[in-house]
Amino acid sequence: MAPPRRGDLSLEEKDLLGVIARGNAEEAGRLLGSKNVRVNCLDEHGMTPLMHAAYKGKVDMCRLLLRHGADVNCNEHEHGYTALMFAGLSGNKEITWMMLEAGAETDVVNSVGRTAAQMAAFVGQHDCVTVINNFFPRERLDYYTKPQGLDKEPKLPVKLAGPLHKIITTTNMHPVKIVLLVKENPLLADVEALQKCYRVLDLICEKCMKQKDMNEVLAMKMHYISCIFQKCLTFLKEREDKLDGFIKSLLKGRDKDGFPVYQEKLIRESIRKFPYCEATLLQQLVRSIAPVEIGSDPTAFSVLTQAITGQVGFVDAEFCTTCGGKGANKRCSVCKMVMYCDQNCQKIHWFTHKKVCKTLKEIHEKQELEAAKEKRKQEKRQKKDEVQLVEGSSTSEEQTDAGPDATKEADANHATDQVEEPEFTKETEAPALPPEGPVESETGLADIALQKIQGSEE
Ligand SMILES: [Zn+2]
Ligand SMILES: [Zn+2]
Repeated sequence: MAPPRRGDLSLEEKDLLGVIARGNAEEAGRLLGSKNVRVNCLDEHGMTPLMHAAYKGKVDMCRLLLRHGADVNCNEHEHGYTALMFAGLSGNKEITWMMLEAGAETDVVNSVGRTAAQMAAFVGQHDCVTVINNFFPRERLDYYTKPQGLDKEPKLPVKLAGPLHKIITTTNMHPVKIVLLVKENPLLADVEALQKCYRVLDLICEKCMKQKDMNEVLAMKMHYISCIFQKCLTFLKEREDKLDGFIKSLLKGRDKDGFPVYQEKLIRESIRKFPYCEATLLQQLVRSIAPVEIGSDPTAFSVLTQAITGQVGFVDAEFCTTCGGKGANKRCSVCKMVMYCDQNCQKIHWFTHKKVCKTLKEIHEKQELEAAKEKRKQEKRQKKDEVQLVEGSSTSEEQTDAGPDATKEADANHATDQVEEPEFTKETEAPALPPEGPVESETGLADIALQKIQGSEE
């Protein structure tokens, strides 16, 4: 059969594009079974059905099309866009991940020389940038599951490749998260297994630094995870409470403000121990971290995360105090100053949080009172201004005396005082999250992005 040409669509293929846009999986499945439908057909712009589905953020459709043999690296688009680029533009992390898993090349550039990660960054889809930058093909790890050269045994037992791959592709590199991931897998939470894993990570780190297109970011990430694994080993060997002991050490806050000093020091030490001291990334990290007093911002974790995920600037979500998970929306019901993913994360943290919860509560209440006072002051001022505007002068502001409101506030405080133990996790208003799907616009985000990119080129 001749390769598809742009705009050469059968009626059923046209139908398919419509069905994809509507997200009707059943109908799409039926059409894909028809002999008049080629899964890699091209519309007049050279977009395949997979590109359409990726761009529209239709997860099920993407999965279905890949199952039917959609070519993730098809590159017939008029501006050289790939399915991965469309996924990145749509802002859908899951689809971006799916394209990568399906073998999407990350270094392909469009007609103006931009990679998928660069395009996603350009339109502010930083989550997708993070996914792309942290992707590590499973085959690269599987290489170590086969004996190489004179080795009798592979460096990595096959059964460890899956769990290790999960950890090295995680975008949340919080040390507690990594230890939790180790802990949840009995195959991994074992002295011999961890030894093999950290040595493989060191080898990958070395490869990243010595290969032609050096990847310092990936090298640093591998090195960092290797350091956490080596600390896991120490705890597994020397401590009765094993990995739980490690998690506790990582979370234990100092008396005065609850700041986790051990965690901070561990991350700083890991970075410093990066074996390639000439690396630009290392020097950048050290410059950012060295002048910061322990307990002040930025933490070593935030500096490292920013460097590795490429996340910059403002943060629009809350992070879990325990594991660093993004989008945490459960607040400690007593102090209302810390956030968690779920009850489990809160439970893990309670042993140390309980020492500062009361103090934090007082701080929170003070802040609230200040804010309320400020608000009342402003309202008063506003009212006064309004009245003056209407009447020229007035005494009506007496009516908005702060008295009753203040008592109400005090009552509320008294009520919370009686709570002995915090109710573990109370659902609070979920923070406004960015919509999962792409922006449904007629002009098309991709076109806008392209215009912008081309514009910036001139
Ligand atoms: Zn958490
Ligand atoms: Zn609390």
